[in-house]
Amino acid sequence: RLRGPGARTMPFGPGSLTRVYAITSGKGGVGKSTLTANLAVSLAAKGLSVGLVDADVHGFSIPGVLGLVGEDGLAARPTRVDDMILPPVAYGVKVISIGMFIDPAQASATGGAVAWRGPMLHRTITQFLTDVYFGDLDVLLLDLPPGTGDVAISIGQLLPNADVIVLTTPQAAAAEVAERSGLVARQTGQRLYGVIENMAGFAGPDGEIVEIFGAGGGAEVARRLSERSPDAPVPLLASVPISVALRRGGDDGVPVVLADPADPASVAIDSVAERM
Ligand code: ADP
Repeated sequence: RLRGPGARTMPFGPGSLTRVYAITSGKGGVGKSTLTANLAVSLAAKGLSVGLVDADVHGFSIPGVLGLVGEDGLAARPTRVDDMILPPVAYGVKVISIGMFIDPAQASATGGAVAWRGPMLHRTITQFLTDVYFGDLDVLLLDLPPGTGDVAISIGQLLPNADVIVLTTPQAAAAEVAERSGLVARQTGQRLYGVIENMAGFAGPDGEIVEIFGAGGGAEVARRLSERSPDAPVPLLASVPISVALRRGGDDGVPVVLADPADPASVAIDSVAERM
């Protein structure tokens, strides 16, 4: 029997007991997918039931970061039971990603690129949220595409109860675009949970801190967003340093919070998970 997407009710909307966090950034390549995956794994390691929706449809990298990509370069496939989709599980996290639905023939023809327009994206995200069987979740994380595009607005409509976490690098220019994506979230009625600064000072072998991408961007975004909402200040949740272990964990598909929990990046990420 055919059914329109989203015919099932939205399990994570207002009134649900699941805490929903959408992670956004002003631009790509700032470590959003890597940090989102690590946060999810860190929360699951505490015994929470965690789901992760990779809504970064143009730049999906969650399956790779969580070790859900096979030798053939293809992401793990969800299991289908009747008309429900069961998400693959990595390190205790139930994960769904566009990368899991790309048909192999198409992937080899396009290199896995997805060129979709707004309405189709909206339908896909709706389907991820309604047709994927996550069961009862304590926490649902959404990895949003960078910028202020269609998906962020869809999430704002579908999950107005989501708390938004804004990710930025320490650079002033990055801080500006990150602030803008935070403001879009606010316009769609979402609460700004806080800011995470990533790629902060790198600790060299002699202990000297090298600020490769400058300093202060995270505090600046938090300050500017707070200025616009004096009744609900937006905190800087953590500053995650540049870390070889974190980068390697992403490449190897073993998140650094598990592979090297004592690494300063893991400690910073765990401290955010602790308060979520
Ligand atoms: P985004 O999702 O924002 O596009 P990714 O999570 O894919 O960014 O990260 C981009 C690259 O930067 C990846 O290779 C990742 O391993 C690396 N990276 C992210 N954060 C750090 C960090 N704190 N230290 C070192 N490398 C990092």
